[in-house]
Amino acid sequence: MRKKLFKSESKRLLDLMINSIYTNKDIFLREIISNASDALDKLHYISLTDEAAREKCSSPEIHITFNSNERTITVSDNGIGMTAAELEENLGTIARSGSLKFKEEMDKKDRTENDIIGQFGVGFYSAFMVAKDLTVISRSYKDDTAHIWKSQGADGYTIEECEKELVGTDIIMHLKDDTDTENYSEYLSEYKLRSLIKTYSDYIRHPIKLPTEKHREVGEGDDKKTEAYTEIETVNSMVPIWQRSKSEVSNEECFKFYKEHFYDFNDPVSVIRINADGLVSYKAMLFIPSKTPYDYYTKEYSKGLALYQSGVMIMENCEDLLPDYLRFVKGVVDTNDLSLNISREILQQSHELKTIASNIEKKVRTELKRLLDKDLEKYLTFWSAFGLQLKYGVVSDYGSHKDNISDLLLFYSQKEQKLITLKSYLENMAEGQEKILYSCADSLSSAQSTPAAQLAKDKGFDVLCLTDEVDEFVMKTLMTYGEKAIISVKDENSGLISEDDKKAAEEKAKESSEVLAFITESLGGAVTETTLKNGLKDFAASLGTTGPITLEMEKYFAQMPGEDHPKAQRVLELNPDSTAFKAIEACYKGDPEKATKYAKLLYGTALLTAGLTLDDPFEFSKLITSLI
Ligand code: ADP
Repeated sequence: MRKKLFKSESKRLLDLMINSIYTNKDIFLREIISNASDALDKLHYISLTDEAAREKCSSPEIHITFNSNERTITVSDNGIGMTAAELEENLGTIARSGSLKFKEEMDKKDRTENDIIGQFGVGFYSAFMVAKDLTVISRSYKDDTAHIWKSQGADGYTIEECEKELVGTDIIMHLKDDTDTENYSEYLSEYKLRSLIKTYSDYIRHPIKLPTEKHREVGEGDDKKTEAYTEIETVNSMVPIWQRSKSEVSNEECFKFYKEHFYDFNDPVSVIRINADGLVSYKAMLFIPSKTPYDYYTKEYSKGLALYQSGVMIMENCEDLLPDYLRFVKGVVDTNDLSLNISREILQQSHELKTIASNIEKKVRTELKRLLDKDLEKYLTFWSAFGLQLKYGVVSDYGSHKDNISDLLLFYSQKEQKLITLKSYLENMAEGQEKILYSCADSLSSAQSTPAAQLAKDKGFDVLCLTDEVDEFVMKTLMTYGEKAIISVKDENSGLISEDDKKAAEEKAKESSEVLAFITESLGGAVTETTLKNGLKDFAASLGTTGPITLEMEKYFAQMPGEDHPKAQRVLELNPDSTAFKAIEACYKGDPEKATKYAKLLYGTALLTAGLTLDDPFEFSKLITSLI
């Protein structure tokens, strides 16, 4: 029999399939199963109007079997089948746009780009990734004879008549031999096939049946033994849980689905169901987890939602469906409104995808707000897992998401001694208070005991105590909330020190300019200047800054990799009423050596109260001892 050549397009595609190294060979089964499912649908559709077809229609099923000795996997369906002409037309050429698009994209791409294949309807030819030859036995509903199509890859195919009792198609894949790097034999196992069906084809509408090895006890008494037997089992769930109506599926069922599919032991805090029928129709089931995944802040964690079309998973993690600040959200989106025979790059541009993504973003935010207002306990669970993520969301992308996130933030209130929202801070602001105040430190207790936080407390002003490294950036990015400025208690514009007091300190500083310059000098460059400040309460000294970098920012930058981190310009702030300052003032002319020691001592205490480490703890200890 004469071998026919593939049309040139097909030949090129086959070359690509066979010669390129794909990591995701697994998807061949998904493609063959999807074709079988389409064939079942087609026969069903035709039988609605065609009497003859109806007679040929039996209960639609897809059967998968394997034979380890012959190294074959067979996928059989009782669908529409193909005539000889159709075998020629469908399998001898790239008739369908899906495969053609794929080929065009592959031509543009570097051949090592290996994840692209998972995102296409690459179809029948993908079987050549695992098979050295393919046999298709098919009988069309409109034909009394069956035909066998055979091909060993790029060099062509043959078609002959053959026997087949029932209408439908068998695809027989004869697997390639194993190599040092590729283990094709792994597909010859019930376990592997089952897991591929579960992963990629779980929601195909028709039953996918697989012979399954089982065990049962036979015999009585001493003759009791276990025997193995085979049962044909339906592997796929068929109806996706997200396709079923809300009233039909309990939260518990959704949670079970979440735990099984997203490998989490814990119930999520929430499930969000979307059934959108607007510009773009889609269904989605989204989950807000309750615990931070162990790899959440590493490169291993991949954000994204699973994307399905007609029950077939076409992308495991579609990143473009979620903004970064919601990267903890898990779930699935199912739509028929996307043209999926397109590459990832084109998908990103897709208007439909953007519409879905923007809807999802809104729905998740609304759900978080609902939890915050109606189920605080759950929100606090969420917050402890992903609050930090929301804070990073505020500062990322130049603050472009801040207005979407600010109402979801929680901070520890000095007055309430618990986490509160900015809104609640605003509603409970004391009379005469103009600004939202915060105090940053390494711990809640340090944040509350700084002189400035104490001063605020005396005035009856609440202070938000911040301990995460990113907090100060969050506040600086937010800048305002509800038209009130957000400002550090340490900032000279915090409003905590009256203008009169400030002026008095300035006057006094002018008078004392000589001693202040002496102190700056004796600290040998550790501070840019020394000033006097009212409002330091019982403290003789505190550490302030001048310029855009604060001490908290300096700490934050210091943890980043690399050297030459930006440094704050430090200012030693002295309490003009303190005995310590008066002591330096009294002795710096007569006993400059002693005054220098006092200055260093004061600087050291200022460092410690600011939560910083001493430059030289040994020298500091000696200094104290020498002064006792
Ligand atoms: P696509 O599925 O994108 O159309 P394929 O290469 O997978 O491309 O398949 C080509 C064509 O072969 C299908 O469109 C269909 O007409 C036919 N075909 C493939 N598998 C079967 C099958 N099991 N039963 C009937 N027709 C099939």
